[in-house]
Amino acid sequence: MGSWAAQQRQEARQLAARLSAEGVRNVALTWVDNAGITRVKTIPAERLAAAAERGIGMSPVFDVFTSDDAITTSEHLGGPDGDLRLFPDLERVTSLAAQPGWAWAPADRYDQLGLPHPACQRQFARRMTERAAAAGLELRMGFETEWVVTRAPAGHPAPGGADEPLDYPCAGPAYGMTRVVELSDYLRDVTEALSVQGIDVLQIHPEYAPGQFEVTTAPGDPVRAADDVVLVRETVRAVSVRHGLRASFAPSVVAGEVGNGCHLHTGLYRDGTSLHRSPDAAWGLAPEATAFLGGVLDALPALLAIGCPSPASYLRLQPSHWAGVYQCWGVENREAALRLITGAPDDPDGGHAEIKTFDAAANPYLAVGAVIAAGLHGIESAAQLPPPQTGDPGVLGVRERARRGIVRLPATLTEAADRLEKSAPLHEAMGEVLHGAVLAVRRAEEAHFAESEDDAIAAATRWRW
Ligand code: GLU
Ligand code: MG
Repeated sequence: MGSWAAQQRQEARQLAARLSAEGVRNVALTWVDNAGITRVKTIPAERLAAAAERGIGMSPVFDVFTSDDAITTSEHLGGPDGDLRLFPDLERVTSLAAQPGWAWAPADRYDQLGLPHPACQRQFARRMTERAAAAGLELRMGFETEWVVTRAPAGHPAPGGADEPLDYPCAGPAYGMTRVVELSDYLRDVTEALSVQGIDVLQIHPEYAPGQFEVTTAPGDPVRAADDVVLVRETVRAVSVRHGLRASFAPSVVAGEVGNGCHLHTGLYRDGTSLHRSPDAAWGLAPEATAFLGGVLDALPALLAIGCPSPASYLRLQPSHWAGVYQCWGVENREAALRLITGAPDDPDGGHAEIKTFDAAANPYLAVGAVIAAGLHGIESAAQLPPPQTGDPGVLGVRERARRGIVRLPATLTEAADRLEKSAPLHEAMGEVLHGAVLAVRRAEEAHFAESEDDAIAAATRWRW
């Protein structure tokens, strides 16, 4: 124990020296709250070794912060008392290409006695990853990041209000090369910043909505995937600022239009072998992968309270908007909440599933942890998948949907929160303190926006994540 601590200290000192030599002045230690906001404490680079050893103080009240910076309470959390320690993950310390002189590290939260904080979302994600590993299973996950870029209004760093004009820096069509030409320096800088930070970019391209783009990154360990999406988002934001632009990752930038998703890709492996590529099995799904996905599909109404956590999320969740609002799965079906991607026959890593419904207001650590918990519960309870859905369920009549057994996912945050409240497997996996805090934040967000028009909700949340 003593020598392990000494070795850690030594590594942290070497790292701090390397960062200083690279010109890094500050290190941003981030964690994501239950409302999906990335919160931060920053330290001078030379404090990194001390932070790795003793942590940095931060109040537990942030567990019950809402997306508008109001504070609620849960049975276990809230109020001015107490303190926690943020511990940077030294393995993820990254110099930030678009913020010269800065580095970043995700943090785990412990109490003052050194015990894991029961509401630490990153440790929840790690616990679930380890629970899967104890059953011999490995998850490879990755998030897609969609965002809308606008020109930053001079002198108005924080606009808002339903009548705020959105000044798009590109006019080209959806998925059009015109947008790439119009913003070629910007997109090159985003790609370069991500790649020098060790993020493996798979694609970057224009999306459907005005000013909308998307970047996808390589899948990996679930905690790493959640760290990556935080780093990707903050990097896109930082490059945008340097170009006089601003990026919105909000679920609904303009009420009624196609929104920003943050789809979660997930692949299941046993002993390094994909369970999505079983020879002779339908769609290549090994029985365990079927049960895992069956568990995720069953739990989706409750998972929405994690993956679609804001009243603004439900502005995005409209049928026929590629957001996956029906509780069904389909092979390469972009209107199914769970899209199975079978992969090319010669691709050894091909084959995984995509949860289309989630958005970037979600805490990504909660998202990966809850999906693993739901999938493992599916395996334990031998869950099955119903027949796949082809085509857009949104264009079917009510009767035909009922005949096929397809139901709409929760259309309000209240409904999703009610489902999470009643979900025994998610309650057990998250534990009382985390489950209670998430629900308290959902209830407070609902109450805050209960009387608001759609346009006002979109405007109030547009620049929050
Ligand atoms: N922007 C869509 C969403 O809200 C997704 C588009 C796509 O299929 O990538 O999730
Ligand atoms: Mg997309």
